[in-house]
Amino acid sequence: MHELSIAQSIVQLSEQQAREHHSSQIEEVELEIGRLAGVELQTLEFAMESAVKGTLLEKAKIIRHYIDGEGQCSDCETVFPVGNLFSPCPNCGSYLVNITKGRELRIKSIVIK
Ligand SMILES: [Zn+2]
Repeated sequence: MHELSIAQSIVQLSEQQAREHHSSQIEEVELEIGRLAGVELQTLEFAMESAVKGTLLEKAKIIRHYIDGEGQCSDCETVFPVGNLFSPCPNCGSYLVNITKGRELRIKSIVIK
């Protein structure tokens, strides 16, 4: 499962940070998850719940920022919200759209005790 490996790498990266700072507790992890990142959000939630068990992240507060998709038309340069990767430009109907936001999938910050 794709989402489970994402959840596990979030846990691994966070624990690595904590260890580098000789800490045994992570207080807070902030994630940025783009709605166009290709992950099933509910599945990721579920995967996170099981991935943090028994780790330094178990008691951490996990803050999620969901980032809505945004694209810019390559033909008329209109910027518009994108609900999926195949949305045409609402202004001219072009499919040549650059996705500018919504593909993020990263740890924004980690607060270590
Ligand atoms: Zn356009």
